[in-house]
Amino acid sequence: MDLTTLERLPLWIGGRAVTARTRRYGEVTNPATGEVLRHVPFATAEDVADAVTAASAALPAWRAAPALRRARVLMRFRELLEAHRKDLARLISQEHGKTVADAEGSITRGIEVVEFATGIPHLVKGEFSDNVGTDVDSFSLRQPVGVCAGITPFNFPAMVPMWMFPIAIACGNTFVLKPSERDPSMGLRMAELATEAGLPDGVLNVVHGDREAVDAILAHPDIKAVSFVGSTPIARYIYETGTARGKRVQALGGAKNHAVVLPDADLDFAAEALIGAAYGSAGERCMAVSVVVAVGEAGDALRDRLAARARRISVGPGDRPESEMGPVINCAARDRIMGLIDRGVAEGATLVVDGRKPQIPGHENGFFVGPTLFDDTQSDMTIYREEIFGPVLVMVRTQSLEEAIALINANPYANGAALFTRSGFAARRFQLDVEVGMVGINVPIPVPMAFFSFGGWRNSLFGDLHVHGMDGVRFYTRGKAVTARWPNDGSAAPGFHLPTLG
Ligand code: NAD
Repeated sequence: MDLTTLERLPLWIGGRAVTARTRRYGEVTNPATGEVLRHVPFATAEDVADAVTAASAALPAWRAAPALRRARVLMRFRELLEAHRKDLARLISQEHGKTVADAEGSITRGIEVVEFATGIPHLVKGEFSDNVGTDVDSFSLRQPVGVCAGITPFNFPAMVPMWMFPIAIACGNTFVLKPSERDPSMGLRMAELATEAGLPDGVLNVVHGDREAVDAILAHPDIKAVSFVGSTPIARYIYETGTARGKRVQALGGAKNHAVVLPDADLDFAAEALIGAAYGSAGERCMAVSVVVAVGEAGDALRDRLAARARRISVGPGDRPESEMGPVINCAARDRIMGLIDRGVAEGATLVVDGRKPQIPGHENGFFVGPTLFDDTQSDMTIYREEIFGPVLVMVRTQSLEEAIALINANPYANGAALFTRSGFAARRFQLDVEVGMVGINVPIPVPMAFFSFGGWRNSLFGDLHVHGMDGVRFYTRGKAVTARWPNDGSAAPGFHLPTLG
């Protein structure tokens, strides 16, 4: 299916492209030009029910398939992702705006989760103890949950869905994906490639849409588990609504990631790392550094380095090889970010680099915001409190590492935090005392590898388990313990007291 020529995107149900029943469609735009690329259906509850019916029908055979057979389908899926890497990256860049190189990097991170999931025969191995009582053995199993759903954000249209469905289906579940309606095509392409890899029809389905589709997922009694990644208010809503209906839910929310720079750090290295972490993907990463905390005398020297490098960032369309930073996702996002920059100025922060008037010849209708840097930011200012989710880095000054840690721990978001230093003592203090889910030491974006788990604390995650790694396997399986005996001489008469097995 060549999605790029389609006027209206289909859904993917039961192993094939299906025209949605809905009459509501939205526009998918190219953020670099503002042009409408194609239209995306906003699925109704009936569309979602069709997908769940297909997923339910596929479940018995898929969960009964040996884990190794499921893993082999994922191995072929991995090869297809690799073979189509360039096309997929271009499709992401076209709908999202990020550079093609950055999009390719995100596909790699998704592929790594598929690779992790191919180890599923080992990952779901249970435990066994013989003779826990006389002639009694015990063992544990991990079994699939059933039909699972994933609801994903616009900023990683390949990677975030791949945090979810490869592990879910490897565990023997079937899946309904609801990608972001702003860059929906990757969801379809991944489902198509999975089918080509031999995934049985109905194991992975894709519905598009907005709140109506999400509410239908939350209301459907046959969906047993929901993974969500997106903004904090919606994450909270998904968690509260889904769990109230008896579903297992993990809902990852927004972020305000701090990077602390101590005076003993290599400031050239720190500044270069922070530039990529703050402005890469136009700041539209849940692990983007959006606050830099300069401790003591690190401040002025760091600000000067950041400002000089930020001014040199090459801003342009994502498919131009020399572009380091593309546009933001849509005009609403651009206007919101511009408004927040205005607010920062009005509230008294020092605007060091102003990105409000980027000049991108030939792309006057694109949704561009230039790299922006604030200094002298106070914790009660709007630009510090709100998640900007754009290319805006705010600098806060503190006098000590302890003060910096206290600032991070008081923030409602708690996804990631990084420290730049040459002191092992300070690094150890930081990694133990900072209250966030992911910590970087001289690493600005500490995204854990697929075999570790990814997730934040406080308002950055609602639920108990992080995504991928062993938390992902736990989320998509239920534990069961079997206690068994095989008497054959009739002497083991059951009693009426609580068995002690002794
Ligand atoms: P979003 O919350 O607007 O949308 C996420 C998903 O929820 C989409 O599929 C969308 O269709 C759906 N949705 C939107 N409004 C809804 C509503 N009212 N009711 C039900 N469903 C709704 O998020 P976004 O703008 O697509 O993505 C950016 C956000 O995601 C940022 O806050 C970012 O920090 C966060 N994010 C977090 C992580 C993480 O790992 N914690 C990763 C990526 C993105």
